[in-house]
Amino acid sequence: MYQAAEDRYNNMIYNRVGNSGLKLPALSLGMWHNFGDVDLFENSRKMVHRAFDLGITHFDLANNYGPPAGSAEENFGRILKKDLLPYRDELIISSKAGYYMWPGPYGEFGSKKNLTASIDQSLTRMGLDYVDIFYSHRPDPDTPFEETAQALDLMVRQGKALYIGISNYSAEQTAEISKIFKELKTPFIIHQPSYSMYNRWIEDGLQDVLQENQLGSIAFSPLAQGMLTDRYLNGIPKDSRAGRTTSQFLDEEKVKATLEQSRALNEVAKRRGQTLAEMAVSWILRDGKVTSVLIGASKVSQIEDNVKALDNLDFSLSELAEIEKILKR
Ligand code: NDP
Repeated sequence: MYQAAEDRYNNMIYNRVGNSGLKLPALSLGMWHNFGDVDLFENSRKMVHRAFDLGITHFDLANNYGPPAGSAEENFGRILKKDLLPYRDELIISSKAGYYMWPGPYGEFGSKKNLTASIDQSLTRMGLDYVDIFYSHRPDPDTPFEETAQALDLMVRQGKALYIGISNYSAEQTAEISKIFKELKTPFIIHQPSYSMYNRWIEDGLQDVLQENQLGSIAFSPLAQGMLTDRYLNGIPKDSRAGRTTSQFLDEEKVKATLEQSRALNEVAKRRGQTLAEMAVSWILRDGKVTSVLIGASKVSQIEDNVKALDNLDFSLSELAEIEKILKR
């Protein structure tokens, strides 16, 4: 039987999400990959245990995570039931709706019809009464933001979600929907954008909007799906995301495009006494603007490595300048 480590709160840093009462760990664990039915359940389970033992209290899911879609929530539900239910009040569990989930006009995007059905499905799959954070996974070009916001607000009133977030919304869209949430008095507290050394779009407007509205952020794909780690420095391993056939989100071509930069960044990391993955995590936390770094992992050892980033969060001006120079190549 799983028993959580007694020292699990000794080393993790917890950051307040915007001006809300909620704190998130500086590192959170996402279940987009490696928690589906195509993956080894015992490995997924071990990763959840180790993460929680290291103080990672936040687990991020979505209706469509797997594959097949839905299976990550089901598997996480099994892990909860087996091991983690005694710790439910120590956990922040999130889910989302917005990407394609079921056929017909109501199986994706941001209508009240889709969001209402989807959160119920997610709760059933995970065996939960409520999620801590529920996200609109992407903006819907056809549904007015009022309708999406009202559907999310209703989830909170119904006790199905404690807090609301949005993901993949632009700076302008975030400002627009924030206004509606304020009118509704929805506990809208967080944005989940992609952000890494290789993908810095949020620095161009979104971070200002988040600051103006006192919102938090949780950065997804912080390691550029593995390209900001030592995974591909010497070729493409068969068991890696770029090497596996069960994921189409990373391939040899994408890896090759950044390989020279990754090798140069790896040298900077070595001088800092870090792995490239650790440095990539530290770099996101460098200026205190991002609340949590939402990592993915396929092995327990990767989670352990990434958490070590917290041992060295400071960058000298010359290190930052060197990184900028490499990223401009
Ligand atoms: P990352 O950029 O952290 O990539 C994770 C991958 O990097 C792992 O699967 C592993 O690859 C590799 N890796 C991780 N740590 C190490 C390490 N220390 N050393 C070597 N390799 C390492 O994040 P993801 O792209 O997985 O996204 C993280 C989470 O963000 C998702 O699970 C999901 O919760 C969320 N997300 C949200 C989206 C949205 O639209 N809102 C979209 C995408 C993600 P390998 O498998 O090859 O071992």
